[in-house]
Amino acid sequence: MSGGVIAIDGPSASGKSSTARAVAEALGFAHLDSGSLYRGVTLVGLRELARHGMRGDDPARDLPPETLRRAAEDRGLMLQPDGAGFAAYLEGEPVDDELRSPTVTSRVSAISAIPVVREWINSRLRAMVRAGQNVVVDGRDIGTVVFPDADLKIFLTASAEARAGRRISQRGHTIEAEDLDAEAAALAARDHADSTRAVAPLRPAEDAVHLDTTTMGFAEQVRFIVERAQPIFSRP
Ligand code: C5P
Repeated sequence: MSGGVIAIDGPSASGKSSTARAVAEALGFAHLDSGSLYRGVTLVGLRELARHGMRGDDPARDLPPETLRRAAEDRGLMLQPDGAGFAAYLEGEPVDDELRSPTVTSRVSAISAIPVVREWINSRLRAMVRAGQNVVVDGRDIGTVVFPDADLKIFLTASAEARAGRRISQRGHTIEAEDLDAEAAALAARDHADSTRAVAPLRPAEDAVHLDTTTMGFAEQVRFIVERAQPIFSRP
């Protein structure tokens, strides 16, 4: 028995994770944040480099793909049920805060371009759905590659400035023009890397519903998705 899937894809800081979590709560689904697994493999790689006293802090460059995959498996990188969603665990400890560190954020795009890593993460995500769980999954390639038969696909966007502003506010900082420019540049670099990589680049699925949230409130964007999902999942 397979669970239902709502796929939410889009660029960095478009609000995918918070929206996906709220949609999941409204529908009684579980939220799966695929980005946290890519961040998790990045953290695995950084810890592996430190453990072996290797110089540098770029696991995609300094570790063979198979070493990364095996370390992720052996160190127990996994998503464990946590309220309406899942929290990332590594070596038996929750690591969600560490996954958002600037070092992980600056290294994750290179890790996510490694095919072995993508296959490992995709098999984890698919196994959770095969187990019968109804899920809202957010990421970059959920509607195109991971779940091409998803029941509903949303492509979430917002202007670069709006996304940068939201990221700064999330950190509890006031938005200064200089910070906004720096944040927008960092997001643009990650979007460029994610959209131009050879494997599973960020792009909307042909059958995705596009939702530009630049001028939308959070509640409104959640309602937009929930209203599209309800008729699909209430069919007999
Ligand atoms: O969504 P989040 O910003 O946490 O994702 C971190 C990174 O993980 C992205 O910049 C992207 O490189 C990668 N990612 C991906 N495919 C996904 C989810 C995330 O390549 N489905």
